[in-house]
Amino acid sequence: MTRIAIVGAGISGLTAACVIEEHAHRNNLDLTTLVIEKQDRTGGKIWSIKEEGYLCEWGPNGFLDNKPMTLDFCRRLQIEDRLLRSDDNARKRYIYADQVLHRLPENGPSFLSSKLISWPGKLRLAGEMLVPKRTDPSDETLAEFGRRRLGKEALDKLISPMVSGIFAGDPETMSLKSCFPRICELEQEYGGLLKAMIRLARKKRADIKAGKAVASAAGPGGILTSFTEGIQELTDAATARLKGEMISGQEVVRIEKKSGGFMLHLADARQLDADIVITASPSYAVAAMIEEINSQAATLLRQIPYAPMNVVCSGYQRERITRDLDGFGYLIPRGEGCHTLGTLWDSSIFPNRAPQGHVLLRSMMGGATNSAAIEFSDEEVVERTVADLERIMGIAGAPDFVKVFRHPRAIPQYTRGHGARLQALDQALEVTPGLLLTGNAFYGVGLNDCVNAADRIAQRAIKLMEERTG
Ligand SMILES: Cc1cc2nc3c(=O)[nH]c(=O)nc-3n(C[C@H](O)[C@H](O)[C@H](O)COP(=O)(O)OP(=O)(O)OC[C@H]3O[C@@H](n4cnc5c(N)ncnc54)[C@H](O)[C@@H]3O)c2cc1C
Repeated sequence: MTRIAIVGAGISGLTAACVIEEHAHRNNLDLTTLVIEKQDRTGGKIWSIKEEGYLCEWGPNGFLDNKPMTLDFCRRLQIEDRLLRSDDNARKRYIYADQVLHRLPENGPSFLSSKLISWPGKLRLAGEMLVPKRTDPSDETLAEFGRRRLGKEALDKLISPMVSGIFAGDPETMSLKSCFPRICELEQEYGGLLKAMIRLARKKRADIKAGKAVASAAGPGGILTSFTEGIQELTDAATARLKGEMISGQEVVRIEKKSGGFMLHLADARQLDADIVITASPSYAVAAMIEEINSQAATLLRQIPYAPMNVVCSGYQRERITRDLDGFGYLIPRGEGCHTLGTLWDSSIFPNRAPQGHVLLRSMMGGATNSAAIEFSDEEVVERTVADLERIMGIAGAPDFVKVFRHPRAIPQYTRGHGARLQALDQALEVTPGLLLTGNAFYGVGLNDCVNAADRIAQRAIKLMEERTG
């Protein structure tokens, strides 16, 4: 019997295991899976914690419905009826700039009337139409791209907050091509972003006419989707679906190469055989596991940095907040002198995130541009978050409920040269056939990207197994 081991039971590892098992079941294959997870729970970054009537997301609070793979996975897990689309109001996003919360403009007229960007900044942005298409193939950072095409103000007030919202990243170091490949393509396909927007807006109007669902232009595209009891329903359902062996609360410390396969060494000295190994753990953890069998790949994996993040969930009685919470929340550009990167109005995005008459806000602090924040004590983290909430939203005093979550290595950073590193990694892995890598460190950090990448790697494992067994 062929055994495929999967190391790590976050969304990536669970997806890979489910896809392989589905295939084996459909084709009546002599195959078994073994999933090994370091923590005593599955889900990895996904963890929905219910306390005092608040539903607090430790990591992600949903996925976007504009890519089919996660939705399709939900259908296969038969949890489609549990899906919860975010409130329509959550399409409204805000940016805190120059001491004011500005609604992120969604179209031309609202952009013109918005005070978020100054008139010189707007003119510079309009000048994007005239900026020639880039021909230099070298890896450009997000900041270089922003300054070149859109101007400094748009970089500071639009691009940088978006990068901290998605990657907790620093635009000065992040690769445009690896973080936002579609933006790179749009420039190449249409000659610029405004030209692309005009052409795509025409298509959107045609879609609306044809009755197709469309997302807000201001958001990243797609509608944020979760479940009644939080995003953990997804990984719980995937875990429950697995038929193979699951070892949790055990770390893989070393992977050894054996003839025709591998030996996994666990922290408790157990040794387990596998014909194929899929790692779905953070890149630094994989580097430690494979150092002895592929030091070149390990070196490349160690070059992928991670940004830290604190997540602060604050609960308030609704009447303590005077402003409307009619949106997704806000992001804060770096120069505003705030401690937090932004705050999501979680109880406005999804119902039942806070007890009746209360609201739940979730603030992010840290990221690549403020990595020292991970060293703050809980008291310091809360104090600084409260100060920002008072300054930005006018909320006086401490929250009625507070919870601080820590992610010392929250999100992998696709820095300049990431694409070349991945190519070199693929080459380095040629000496260890049967060792396959997935997870959020490579081709996207969103849950959709993780599900997509894990599906692709599962297909590769299946193909490899079929080639070997004839
Ligand atoms: C605060 C925060 C908010 C986010 N918000 C969103 C969002 O709203 N929407 C979205 O799409 N994405 C969001 N993301 C990104 C997304 O959550 C992650 O990219 C994704 O969950 C990563 O899944 P993964 O399975 O690749 O990795 P992980 O979830 O990190 O799973 C890796 C697993 O490997 C295990 N492991 C590690 N070492 C070993 C070992 N030696 N042996 C065995 N097991 C090991 C770990 O314990 C872990 O369970 C957010 C991330 C963070 C941190």
